Amino acid sequence: MTPPDTLEQASRDSHAPTPRPASDWTTADAAALYGLEGWAGGYFRVGRGGTLEVTPHGDAHDTAAKSIDLVELTEGLRQRGIGTPVLIRFPEIVEHRMRSIRAAFDRAIEQEQYQGGYTCVYPIKVNQQRHLAETIRDIAGSVGFGLEAGSKPELLAVLGLTERRGAMPIVCNGFKDDEYVETVILAHKLGRDITTVIEGRGELTRLLSHADRYGVRPQIGVRVKPAAIGGGRWAESAGERSKFGLHASEVLTALERLKDRGMADCLSLVHFHIGSQLCEMRHIKQAISELARFFCELRRLGAGVHTIDVGGGLAIDYDGSQSAWSSSADYSLDEYATDIVYRIKAACDDAGQPHPRIISESGRAMVAHSSVLVFDVLGRSSFCEDPGLEEIRTQMEGEKQASGEEVPQPIRDLVDAYELAADPEKLNEAAHDATQARDEAMSLFNLGYLSLPMRAAAEKLYWATSIRVLREAEAGGRPDLADELNDLPRQLADTYFGNLSIFQSLPDSWAIDQLFPVMPIQRLGERPTRRAVVADITCDSDGSIDRFACDDARDFKPTLELHDLDFDEEGAPETPYYLAVFLVGAYQEVLGDLHNLFGDSHVAHVSLDDEVGFGIDELIEGDRVSEVLGYVQYEPAQLREAIRREAELAVRQGRMNVAESRSLLSFYESGLEGYTYLE
Ligand code: PLP
Repeated sequence: MTPPDTLEQASRDSHAPTPRPASDWTTADAAALYGLEGWAGGYFRVGRGGTLEVTPHGDAHDTAAKSIDLVELTEGLRQRGIGTPVLIRFPEIVEHRMRSIRAAFDRAIEQEQYQGGYTCVYPIKVNQQRHLAETIRDIAGSVGFGLEAGSKPELLAVLGLTERRGAMPIVCNGFKDDEYVETVILAHKLGRDITTVIEGRGELTRLLSHADRYGVRPQIGVRVKPAAIGGGRWAESAGERSKFGLHASEVLTALERLKDRGMADCLSLVHFHIGSQLCEMRHIKQAISELARFFCELRRLGAGVHTIDVGGGLAIDYDGSQSAWSSSADYSLDEYATDIVYRIKAACDDAGQPHPRIISESGRAMVAHSSVLVFDVLGRSSFCEDPGLEEIRTQMEGEKQASGEEVPQPIRDLVDAYELAADPEKLNEAAHDATQARDEAMSLFNLGYLSLPMRAAAEKLYWATSIRVLREAEAGGRPDLADELNDLPRQLADTYFGNLSIFQSLPDSWAIDQLFPVMPIQRLGERPTRRAVVADITCDSDGSIDRFACDDARDFKPTLELHDLDFDEEGAPETPYYLAVFLVGAYQEVLGDLHNLFGDSHVAHVSLDDEVGFGIDELIEGDRVSEVLGYVQYEPAQLREAIRREAELAVRQGRMNVAESRSLLSFYESGLEGYTYLE
C-alpha cells in the first residue's frame, strides 16, 4: 500500500467532491454542514462575512448580539506575538454557563415547590488552570456555587483559591491520607464550609482522630456505591464493583460509629458519582431515585444528613446529535435539573423527610464551551487524479524496447481499468480490476519482475482509477457502488497538516475517540471542495483527527469538508488557513501530554469590548523548548555547553569557521527559547 508520504504534495487537480457554483453556497449552508446548531450552545455562529463569530453571552441567534470575530482575534493575537496554535478562553462563556445552570435549578425548584436549595461545586480536576479556576471562584461567589477537590494537591489549591471566602462550599472527594484529612480539619478551624466525603476504608478513622485532636465537629459525607450504573464511557464509576464509594453495609457501619460518639449529626451529606458525560437520562433518573432513598433511610436511622450531592455527569452535546451516543446527550440542562429535583422531592415526600439541599459537581458542563483551540494549516498531501497516462505509455514503450518483452500484464490491466472508470456503468468492475492488478504489480515488484518506474506507474494508475470511480459514483448519487468500496472517501481523503499536537491539546480525541466539533473559521461563505483528515505534527500516526460529527446520530464521518488552498513552492499555504476545535474547555488542557515534546500552547483570555470588539484580558505564553526539556530532566545549560564544545572542536579541526560556530550557537539558543510548535 502506498504510504502517504509518497503522495503528491498539494496537488491542485486531485480528488474533490463535485463542485457547484460558488453562488450556490451561503453561510447558512456552512452552519448546517458543520452542524453548528447542534453543538454551539448559542456561543458560536457563522457571520455574514463568512467568518466564525463568538457570542459569549449565548445569544448567537440574535443578529444584534455582540460578537467576536475569531479570525480577527487570531490575527490580532498574532500581531501581539501570540501565534497559533492558541487556546482562547472566553470567561464570559464560563459565567453564562454557570448562570444557566443556576437558573435551570432555580426554575426546577420553583416549579416543583421544592423546599431545599441548590448549589454546584466546580470539580477543579476538570481544568485546574489557575486563571480559569480564579474566574470560576469569582463568579461562584455571586451565584452561590463552590469548589470540589479530588486529591490532596487539589485541596491545597482550593484552600488557597478561597482565601477569606468562608461561606463558599467546598466538597472533598478522592483518596485521603492522614495529611489530607488533617488539612480538612484545620480548614474547619479557619471557618470554612468544608465537607469531607468518606469513600474508602480507613478514611473515617483518620478523620475522627484528627477531629478529636483539634476538637472539631466536621461535616462528613459518604459516597455510596449505587447499584444503578451510569452507562457511557465511565460506566465503571458506579455499580457494586466500582473503585469508589462504600457498600450499603459500610455506610451503616460508619453511621453506627458516629452514633457511638454522639456525632450522627455530623453525617451531613450523601454523595455518588456515576460517571462523567452521562449521555442517557434514564440512567441518571434511576440513580437519583436510589440516592434519594439512601438519604431518606439515613435520616430515618438517625443521621443528620441535609444534603444530597449527585456528583458530575451533566453531559455536553459534542456532536450535536442530541442522542444517547457517547459524545452527545439525550437530554437538556432543564430536563436534567427538573428530573433531579422532582425525583428527590418525590422520594422525600413519600418517606416524610424534609427536602435536602442538592449539590451537583457539573464541571464539564460549566467549562467545555469556554475554550476554543485555533491552529493553522501547514500543508496538504493529496492523491493525484491525473496519472499522466501519456508519460506512462511512453515509459511502457521504453521498457518494452529495452527488454524486448511486453511490460507485465498488471500494468496494462491498470491502464485498462483507468479507462474503464470513465464509464459510469462499469465503476465496480474498474475498481475491482484496479485492485487486483495493483496487488499483482506489487508482488511482481517484490519478486524482482517489475521495475521501480513501473511500480510508480502502477500506484498512480491505481489511485487515479479509484478517484475516477468515486467521482463518477458521487456525480450519479453513488447508485450501485459495491459495499467494499464504501471506504473509498476515507482512503482518498486529503491530509491537511495542522500545527498542533493531538496528544497535548485533544487527548480525549486520541484516547477515547471523543468527537469534538472541528471546522474552518474563515471562507465560510465559500463552498468547501475538499474532503480531508487533519494530521498533527507529532511523529505518530495516531496524531490525527479522522472522525467528525455527521447528521447520523451514533455515527461519524471519516473526513471533514475543507476549502482548497493555494500553496507556495515549499507546499505551505499562501495565505493562512485556520481551523478551530471547539468545546475543549473540559479535561483537554490538563490531560494533555508531552508526546514529541510539544508543550502547552499559548493561551489568551478574551472578552467582548464595546469599543474595539474584543479585549485581551490575559496572555499566557505557551511552553518554551527549554521548559519542556526541563520537564524531562534535561538541563538547557548543559545542552548549550555540549553544543559549544562540539562547535569549538569543529573550528579547531577546520570543519567550521568561527562565524559559523557562532551562528550555530545563536540558532541553538533561539531554538531553546522558542515555542515548541512551528513558528
Ligand atoms: N465529581 C467526581 C467525583 C468526579 O470523579 C468527576 C469526574 O469524573 C466529576 C465530579 C466531574 O464530572 P463532570 O465531568 O460531569 O464534570
